[in-house]
Amino acid sequence: MTRVLVLNSGSSSVKYRLFDGTETVSKGLVEKIGEPGGNTADHREALQRIMSETDLEGLAAVGHRVVHGGSDFTEPTVVDDDVVARIESLIPLAPLHNPAAVTGLEVARKLLPDVPQVAIFDTAFHATIPPEGVTWAIDAELAAKWQIRRYGFHGTSHGYVARRTAAILGRPVEDTNVITLHLGNGASATAVRGGRSVATSMGLSPLDGLVMGTRSGSIDPTVIFHLHRVAGLPIDEIESSLTRHGGMLGLCGDNDMRTVEQRREAGDPAAVLAFDVYIRRLREFIGSYLVVLGRVDAITFTAGVGEHSPEVRAAALAGLEPLGIAVDPTRNEAAEEIISPDGSRTAVCVVPTDEELEIANQSRAALGLAD
Ligand code: ADP
Repeated sequence: MTRVLVLNSGSSSVKYRLFDGTETVSKGLVEKIGEPGGNTADHREALQRIMSETDLEGLAAVGHRVVHGGSDFTEPTVVDDDVVARIESLIPLAPLHNPAAVTGLEVARKLLPDVPQVAIFDTAFHATIPPEGVTWAIDAELAAKWQIRRYGFHGTSHGYVARRTAAILGRPVEDTNVITLHLGNGASATAVRGGRSVATSMGLSPLDGLVMGTRSGSIDPTVIFHLHRVAGLPIDEIESSLTRHGGMLGLCGDNDMRTVEQRREAGDPAAVLAFDVYIRRLREFIGSYLVVLGRVDAITFTAGVGEHSPEVRAAALAGLEPLGIAVDPTRNEAAEEIISPDGSRTAVCVVPTDEELEIANQSRAALGLAD
């Protein structure tokens, strides 16, 4: 068996999981790095702690989650100095996400100089979206100069659950079209044709698209001009409002879908509206991807909300029987792998995502290692 350590470095946390083959040997989370109340000064200390608490005997690779790979990185990439420099050069595109990944890469390479490191990009799976699906109708010169286009995120998850869906249906991936709905704190929808992404809801950053826990999802850009010019808010404050105080939190004061659902059942009007806005946006994306794909073999729910909320799944697909899409209430409540009635034209699936496992598998594959 080949041991792989998967690291997911965020701005103030590092998540890790050690695999032996596909088995998890250990996992954990170091939080509040460099924050008051935390007991870890920086990422170096966090990684040192993780490594001292983890049995790294026989470690064959470290797989790093990197949020933004820009247009350059479309595959899992073995890390060298040049790769780190190129990921660093993408920081202007992903100022909220890439700095932590760069730090994680640098520290892990210093602490484990003899272990190969692989970068796995959230954007990579979406490299197959055709130009018309990633291009916005803005001044083409400006867009080219500043690398402005849709990149898409959560790619590791969308790719994994699309393949799992094909396996569940007993179909070849190459001939299976799936709409994958990754509904966690962050949320995105992807249209997958034959195992390849052809449309996705997140954009230049993970702020675009669906309504999320604390992120607004798509809004008219004029909202930003208005908040700046008329309300007088500085641009950083607007960004922070849309990313950290938007979404369900902004609408009703709670970003945990469980709490929103409880309040909604109790008739709380703000929670009712927040749920309805969330579902409405989700349905608009599902509708659009039904048309993008033409033939849809499955719609798959994944991540915290997608895996655990029968209410969201039922509401997202309610009334679509004329399109051959339906949810069986008993199967939905039990979160079975397939929650549509037998014989449905489009299957509806619930597939737990496992981004860390996928990162471990891709890291091994990139290095030509066996499981
Ligand atoms: P992350 O994007 O941070 O990885 P997760 O995929 O774990 O997040 O999803 C977190 C979200 O899942 C939270 O909003 C949480 O409320 C939601 N969630 C977890 N369990 C349930 C449940 N039983 N019902 C509804 N929502 C749930």
